[in-house]
Amino acid sequence: MEDIAGNINTILDSLPEGVKLVAVSKFHPVDVVMDAYRAGQRIFGESRAAELVEKAQTMPYDVDWHFIGHLQTNKVRQIIPYVNMIHSIDSGRLLKTVNDEALRYGRRVDVLLQIHVAKEETKFGFTPEELIEFASELDTDNMCGVRIRGVMGMASNVDDEERIRSDFRAIATTFDTLASGPMADEEQFDTISMGMSHDYKLALECGSNMVRIGTTIFGDREY
Ligand SMILES: *Cc1c(COP(=O)(O)O)cnc(C)c1O
Repeated sequence: MEDIAGNINTILDSLPEGVKLVAVSKFHPVDVVMDAYRAGQRIFGESRAAELVEKAQTMPYDVDWHFIGHLQTNKVRQIIPYVNMIHSIDSGRLLKTVNDEALRYGRRVDVLLQIHVAKEETKFGFTPEELIEFASELDTDNMCGVRIRGVMGMASNVDDEERIRSDFRAIATTFDTLASGPMADEEQFDTISMGMSHDYKLALECGSNMVRIGTTIFGDREY
């Protein structure tokens, strides 16, 4: 048995002031996730639409649900009533779909633009150059269904700490470029979501203010 409350408190103690913890609950059953809720955790991250909806309908209303996985446009409508932040906007088409579905539902959803810097080729997201160009052309005044809050990214899945740091730095630098350029007029462009169980301490060194941690809280996932 994992000591979930203890694990959360150990992580919270290691986070600088102002850094938010997303407890990644994907693949863990509600009774286990509720242990984290009872320990005071409120932000939970899921990576599959049906699983987020099911948990949101079962758990208390004050959970702050974040979607962190690859999101297909045909799944957006399902999660809009429940999700407060989508970390994984990886195309203009997805951003438009989230905006349209949120408006249709009568709400506004926080989103992060996903940056791809890792060496793995299968990962989703914009390269830094693509993202800066994409953001420069965005007409956010006409997107009242979304509030663009920042960026999300992952480092390469390697042991080489220097490589991991350089990936995180590239994500943070892209955030800075957007924040002082194309996103300068956004209401609350303030979030850099990076760092998972094995690399979040490096992410914090590089400027992360939102970490997404699953395994260190809940133990290994059973897929
Ligand atoms: C699963 C997942 C995490 C959490 O990973 P852990 O190694 O279990 O901490 C973080 N971010 C994303 C995008 C994920 O899919």
